[in-house]
Amino acid sequence: MEVLASKTGTLLNGAADVFDQVVLAASKFESTLSPAAMSIVRGFMGNDVLSAGFFLMIVGSSYTFFKNLIINYYNEVQSWFYVSIVVQEGDQLYNWLSDWIAERPLTKSIRHLTAKTMWTETERSLDYFDDGEEERPKLVYAPGSGTHVLYHKGYKVNVARDTPEATNEDGDQNRMMKKQSITISSVGWDMSLLKAIVQDAMDKSYKKKAGKTTIYSTQPYDNYWSSSETRAPRAFHSVILAKGLKEELLSDITMFRKSARWYHDRGIPYRRGYLLHGPPGTGKTSFIVALAGHLRMNVCIVNLGISGFNDKQLNQLFNCAPRNSILLMEDVDAALVKRKAGKTQEGENNVTLSGILNSLDGITAQEGSVVFMTTNHIRKLAPALIRPGRCDRKLLFDYADEHQIRGMCLKFLLSRSASGELNTDLFPKGKSPSDEVSPEEQIRMDAYDTHVREVAEEICQKITRSDAVTTAQLQAFFMLHRESPDTIVKAIPGFLEEISRE
Ligand code: ADP
Repeated sequence: MEVLASKTGTLLNGAADVFDQVVLAASKFESTLSPAAMSIVRGFMGNDVLSAGFFLMIVGSSYTFFKNLIINYYNEVQSWFYVSIVVQEGDQLYNWLSDWIAERPLTKSIRHLTAKTMWTETERSLDYFDDGEEERPKLVYAPGSGTHVLYHKGYKVNVARDTPEATNEDGDQNRMMKKQSITISSVGWDMSLLKAIVQDAMDKSYKKKAGKTTIYSTQPYDNYWSSSETRAPRAFHSVILAKGLKEELLSDITMFRKSARWYHDRGIPYRRGYLLHGPPGTGKTSFIVALAGHLRMNVCIVNLGISGFNDKQLNQLFNCAPRNSILLMEDVDAALVKRKAGKTQEGENNVTLSGILNSLDGITAQEGSVVFMTTNHIRKLAPALIRPGRCDRKLLFDYADEHQIRGMCLKFLLSRSASGELNTDLFPKGKSPSDEVSPEEQIRMDAYDTHVREVAEEICQKITRSDAVTTAQLQAFFMLHRESPDTIVKAIPGFLEEISRE
């Protein structure tokens, strides 16, 4: 302890000596300071501890200065010997490149990984218990934060992921500024390898997406879309709407997509807005996703019922929607109701009506924009939001009518789907949907289907439009009884009673 104290004393004395020299030099400038300022400086210089602290401060800042100088110089020199491309989160390329990196074989030198779970199409469809074990997702590993070495066609590439740290004081708003980025670099002056990688990442992504629907979504406080899912399009016939509604909407939108010149000639902004309204569980979202698949479009979904979106963000989202997308604003009423209630605490939703209107009117990035809005409460919407130009068609998705009750029943009970695929959990068991069946099996299936059609008619007598049943409730009911059409009719009273209690 004594030794430590004496060393500290020596250090302080040494520091004081050096400081005296500094004071001597400083005193030459004394005449330039005012008397008051000089008395403060003198008081400060007369104190040994303060003098030593000042000395250490100078040493510390010089160290940082020279360190930064060396690092910058090193980086500058180093950058002469390699080429690089930076891709930022928010651009589609970021997701493509992330997928591309995840698909590269991991080299031994990579010691920091990210891990995520992923369902493949087959695993998702086999969502049942086999030998008491539930199907599991695949575990996918990819290089994590830091710089890693990967190989492309035998060439070495450095991949660096930069994840800016969001501190608590930053608050969520700053997440908008702090985007993650990926930098790919290689030694030399030739960019062609890196450009080939970017091209390859894009080509692979388009190949994967071909014939599929990509669902883009966004998180509160983000001002870009991320592709949350790329999946086989939902069969258009699997959504059962009131008679004629689906066909009417399809022909309206198809006509619009062919009318670019018509709009331009008349100076009308080339966009079309639809409002789907009605009780929850009537197929509004399912229809839009199926429609997108049918038209080979993608869907960008923003749920305004979730807190954390603001006007600026909405505007940016609308203007950077990936091409060929349907823009879907879910629960438009929810955002505005919260605003009216005057809840403006931090974290509350602060999208305003004028913000939504501006975003709708200002969509410029995409020609031929198709915007869908959904709401469960049309009466809560401001007239300005649903006037023509912003919302050209308003369509009611109501409780199930006879056509839908019959359609839902047949969808779950018939031995084949509307596109002719075998309904394999029913009949005949153990086949895959596209398998051929023997003539004898077909005869048995036809007899079974005739019975199912009779059951469907009976059901239509017992459940009617006035029971106010949604198609989602019918789906749950028919799924439960799909393997035993004979028990369905008996189960109807219980089902209706349950519905009336909900
Ligand atoms: P909404 O958007 O009107 O609340 P969703 O589209 O989210 O309803 O439907 C919820 C669930 O019910 C989905 O699983 C969907 O498959 C099913 N469903 C609801 N309505 C229909 C319908 N008209 N045809 C087929 N399925 C439907």
